[in-house]
Amino acid sequence: MNKEILENISVLYVEDENDVREFTAKLLGSLVKKVYTAANGLEGLETFKENSSAIDLIVSDINMPKMDGLEMCTRIKEINKEIPIVITSAHNDPNFLKRAIDVGVNTYAMKPIDLYQLVESMIKAIEPILLKRELEQLNVSLESRVEQEVQKLKSILDAQDNIVVVTNNNSLTNVNKRFLEFFNVSDIEEFSSKTVNIYDLFQEEYGFITKDLLQKQECWISYIKKLPEIDRVVKIKNSNNEERIFTVNIDNYDEKDNYFVLSLTDITELKEKSNLLEYQASHDSLTGLNNRNKFKEIYGKEIRRGFRYKNDLSLIIFDLDFFKNINDTHGHQIGDEVLKDIAQVVLGNVREHDIVVRWGGEEFLILLPETSSEGSLNVAEKIRAAIEDKDFSSKNLRLTASFGIASLKDGDDENTLLARTDEALYEAKRTGRNKVIVH
Ligand code: GH3
Ligand code: MG
Ligand code: MG
Repeated sequence: MNKEILENISVLYVEDENDVREFTAKLLGSLVKKVYTAANGLEGLETFKENSSAIDLIVSDINMPKMDGLEMCTRIKEINKEIPIVITSAHNDPNFLKRAIDVGVNTYAMKPIDLYQLVESMIKAIEPILLKRELEQLNVSLESRVEQEVQKLKSILDAQDNIVVVTNNNSLTNVNKRFLEFFNVSDIEEFSSKTVNIYDLFQEEYGFITKDLLQKQECWISYIKKLPEIDRVVKIKNSNNEERIFTVNIDNYDEKDNYFVLSLTDITELKEKSNLLEYQASHDSLTGLNNRNKFKEIYGKEIRRGFRYKNDLSLIIFDLDFFKNINDTHGHQIGDEVLKDIAQVVLGNVREHDIVVRWGGEEFLILLPETSSEGSLNVAEKIRAAIEDKDFSSKNLRLTASFGIASLKDGDDENTLLARTDEALYEAKRTGRNKVIVH
């Protein structure tokens, strides 16, 4: 018998026979934390009311003056229906038992009192209550531990400079402060009332992961996860309708692939800068045309493509006539203005996929895919005439240019085609300038 569990409980003991009460109370006193005594039901009820939070167990006689034990228990149960009750009784008839059960008496000990039996009954009555209390306490501490974990997770997420969300594929379970700020919402619920899946916000744009693409995947998260980092880029509008560019990183939140942590790093500035650097590396800063580097990158590919698909490919080179005179007469700055104007004239006379290059100081190249020498002659002639007719730098400044053309033929490589174009240009210069020569 586990007597120890009684050590921490307080008992209200109600008995009208003084000898029995004093004797039993003394014995109980050595087993439990505290014994409250009362001489009848009414006194017992009063004592309980005064000490209801301290009393853990009632031990009561039945037959007593003023208020009998079962009546008292009924009243006490109205105050605390959980309180365990042990009845001490000489009765043992079915009527008494039924009444006792109705009242909610847990156990009873026969009179005359056998201390051993009484203690056993008390333990039987109190044990479930104590167990229940223990369980409740465990739950409370469990709950607070879960709450602590959630708080810990939240503070980790909030400390992130990235936008971080925890998701189970379909819906969001956690988001951090940056997320709420970015979308200007106060919680997940507000966000979810407008947006079904986070990828609904990914902008449809070439070069980015789009909603359209992700919708087609069996699992959009594992699809993104498998992409190389350089391709895990999305564009999302913030609450001010401003487009921002992010790289997406995905980690498993649990082992079972149920929850994932999505982390979005804002790379807008970085991307703009790298686009700018890329642009600067491939374009001429004065005219904005492709530079030599860019031309070399494209030129080889276009030659190989021309051979593979048996496509025409032509190359035009032109050089401004007596351009030195412009600089000498009007100054270098006007010379620069003229070069910019020339670039615009050329761009206005070629197709979108023709490649216009500033080859040198006042020398330009035009690579024309899928264009025969007749076709490129037309283009060059148009440009030649446009230059001849133009008033440059709004100064009634006139200018001409000389053109050389060659087209891809069997056995050509990058050098031979360019060399033939150059030869044609030289021929144009040699035979009077302001003309187009086809090699
Ligand atoms: P030709 O008809 O024989 O081509 O005569 P040209 O004077 O155009 O020939 P040349 O090659 O001797 O002179 C080219 C001039 O172009 C020399 C240089 O001052 C000028 N030039 C080259 N690059 C630039 C530039 O970026 N800005 C300006 N303003 N002038 C440039
Ligand atoms: Mg020149
Ligand atoms: Mg020149």
